[in-house]
Formats: sequence, C-alpha cells, structure tokens
Amino acid sequence: MPEVVNLRGHHLLCILTHGGTCSTGGGEEYSPEFTENLRAQIDRINNGAAINIVSGPDDVCAALLREATNTCAHARICTRGTVVRTHDSLALKDVARELQSPPLEAGDTFRLGKGEIARLRQAFAAGTLRDGCKGCPWHAACSEVAGKNFSGARLRPDAVPSPSSRLPRQSYGRFSSDP
Ligand code: SF4
Repeated sequence: MPEVVNLRGHHLLCILTHGGTCSTGGGEEYSPEFTENLRAQIDRINNGAAINIVSGPDDVCAALLREATNTCAHARICTRGTVVRTHDSLALKDVARELQSPPLEAGDTFRLGKGEIARLRQAFAAGTLRDGCKGCPWHAACSEVAGKNFSGARLRPDAVPSPSSRLPRQSYGRFSSDP
C-alpha cells in the first residue's frame, strides 16, 4: 500500500499556501501541535506520499481533534457537518476542473506533481480556485501569499515526484494511524 495523506477537499487548497509569506502569519495562531502536524503532512507530500480524499476530518484535523480545547475555527460548523463539507465539495470541484480530471470524491487517491501544483497555484492566485475558501478567517492572508507567488510556502513543487498519477481507488482509514 502506498503511503497516503488523508485530506478533505478544502485542505487541498490550504496545502498550497501554508507557510507562505504574509503580514499576518496566516493560520499560525492555531496551536503549535496543529501547525506542526500540518507541516508534517505537507512534508510527507513533498516526500512522495499520495493524497487520499476523505469526507470529514482528515490527517490535518487530527491534531485538533486530539486537543482538549478544540481551537479549530471551523469547529462548530464542522460539527454541524454541512458548511465545511460544502466547502470541501466546492474545492474538489474546482481542483478537478483545473486539473482536467474526472470528478474527485472520497476514496480517490493520487499524487500531485510539479505541473499540477503550478496549475492549482495559478488558479488560486487568479481567484478561480477559491470557492472552498468562502468564509475562512485566513482568506486575506492566503490571498497575500498567492500575491507573493507563494514565496515561503511549505509545499515544494520542485520536491514532489512527477508525473502525477491517479492510483486505483482504495479504502483507507480516516487517519493514517488507523490500523
Ligand atoms: S483561505 Fe482558508 S480554506 Fe482557503 S487556502 Fe487559506 S486557510 Fe485554506
């Protein structure tokens, strides 16, 4: 089984910008554990891990779900289950369109190559990949990162393997630590 990072739809957008240069520090006000975990998941992708789309909390959310005080800005709407899932769906729709891919849904597993990351970042900067960002408190920060050509962002298109590939649809546990 290939190594995979489980991601919900809108986190496909977040990994494009995280760590990038902006005046507010973006989502750095999240807990150190969350930030450290997000960086670790992006590094796994940089090191060749595939992305597995999941519905609901993913490997990025996992750090927050472990905390006694859930500091996720989306926590309440996530618990209600509709708004963030709508953002996930919008993000998946936009990503599939920009990559000229068949519709993406939970259970799809693929790798993002250098070309795909460049196309997604170009669309993000152009504003055509932002439907999944609606209402996010870091919208302005991520726009600033995009405006600075994603300078400093953790996801490194020069590091990921190329070309991308859609792996056979498989079922994985919601969290990578699951048996
Ligand atoms: S604006 Fe929010 S949802 Fe969009 S990429 Fe930034 S952190 Fe992620």
